[in-house]
Amino acid sequence: MNATLDTVPTGLAGKVVIPDDRRYRLLRSTYTTVGRPAAVVLPESAGDVAAALRFARETGLRVAVRSGGHGLSGSGTNEGGLVIDLSALHRVDVLDRGSRLVRVEAGARWAQVAEALAPHGLAISSGDHGNVGVGGIATGGGVGWLVRQYGLTVDHIRAVEVVLPDGTFVRADAEAEPDLLWVMRGAGAGAGIAVAFEIEAMELGDIGYAQLVAAVDPAGETLRRWADVMARAPRELSTAVMLSSQGISTAAFITAVVSSDSPSVIRDALEPLLGIGDVTVRQAHVGPYTELVASLHLHANAGQMPSSTTNGLLTGMTPDAARALVTASAAPDPVLIQLRSLGGATHDPAPSAMAFAHRHQNTLVVASAFPPDDRATLAAAWTPLARHTDGAYVNFESAPDEATFARAYPGPTGTRVTDLWKRYDPDRVLRPQPPA
Ligand SMILES: Cc1cc2nc3c(=O)[nH]c(=O)nc-3n(C[C@H](O)[C@H](O)[C@H](O)COP(=O)(O)OP(=O)(O)OC[C@H]3O[C@@H](n4cnc5c(N)ncnc54)[C@H](O)[C@@H]3O)c2cc1C
Repeated sequence: MNATLDTVPTGLAGKVVIPDDRRYRLLRSTYTTVGRPAAVVLPESAGDVAAALRFARETGLRVAVRSGGHGLSGSGTNEGGLVIDLSALHRVDVLDRGSRLVRVEAGARWAQVAEALAPHGLAISSGDHGNVGVGGIATGGGVGWLVRQYGLTVDHIRAVEVVLPDGTFVRADAEAEPDLLWVMRGAGAGAGIAVAFEIEAMELGDIGYAQLVAAVDPAGETLRRWADVMARAPRELSTAVMLSSQGISTAAFITAVVSSDSPSVIRDALEPLLGIGDVTVRQAHVGPYTELVASLHLHANAGQMPSSTTNGLLTGMTPDAARALVTASAAPDPVLIQLRSLGGATHDPAPSAMAFAHRHQNTLVVASAFPPDDRATLAAAWTPLARHTDGAYVNFESAPDEATFARAYPGPTGTRVTDLWKRYDPDRVLRPQPPA
């Protein structure tokens, strides 16, 4: 055993995985990043998380926090440090069906949450992938399939159980520890380790679901018409668009989700999308939410998806922005461009209500590039796009730095986030992105 690891606290016996343990292979890495931590701790309680933090302090090991391991920057692993992997904390409990209050532990995957809530006729809009962890989404934002109906995941968090970097356990709600609740809803990674969230779920039966393909012209008029439709769409409709280019021809693959099982509501919501251009309907059906955030997505993370990702928010889809999006997608070294509709319920909270402050933008643009030249390719493609954006979402950023912090947490939000990170984590144990 590594000399620094000789003194594993008794409470953590059997929960510390080191490189010669056969479990290490499946625990060392995240989705995007192969890691070589000195040890991975698998806490089963808030007390274990506090013990792991104490252990890290005593051994001098750098801490990485992991819930689902889907973070794009790979911050859920490290080289030679201690990973606190919350995957054993995955309970999902309906606390009060009447008020739809649900307690979700941070290490659950969103597919597990969807499965557990479906029999109660409830759902939490989280993200588009079932293997993503509760902890990363619920401390950052949560732009899900039902985002325009429900808002962001963080919008519905009523309380968070947190282990602070000094090992103190706090349950933060609006009455007790409102500052901690504020920062955990959008900038939680730098304040503490969330072990569980109390979240108000939504009533949800079956949903309408369609996949459409639209030809996209080089000027991006199709994208402008999509944005126009979304600006007028009922909240029940949320869409995600993936741009795919072959040579000079670009197509938009649109996933449209309607949070209703009523055929007429679904039809009325989807119909305007058929008018954005030359549109083919690949499939349309009514089914459970668990088909979208599916258990089939669950998998181990072994660094299988190295990539570089950045993002920005658009308020309006101007002609210049639309053209720049198509150009980026069709470049000789193309990047994968995804557009996610915002608006609707995402505009309901005041910008100052929580650390996720972006409440007027209508589209999230995510750009990703893949090895071998992912960083350079992304930088080249993103530069012309960046000037059209107004803010960013912290969770779709693979190389967080001061500039991305300022875009994710603009103005007074950034000042308050920085102050609270300093208050809760003065020694920078969680070492989040800048500022220092
Ligand atoms: C395939 C894929 C699809 C995605 N789709 C969406 C989507 O549709 N919508 C969307 O909003 N986002 C999406 N994301 C981005 C996602 O929100 C972030 O990657 C998120 O951080 C992943 O959460 P995780 O728990 O799996 O991450 P992890 O890798 O486990 O954690 C990443 C970082 O988040 C922080 N963190 C995690 N858990 C905690 C905790 N319990 N307490 C405090 N800090 C914590 C830590 O800094 C940690 O290092 C997607 C990512 C991928 C890879």
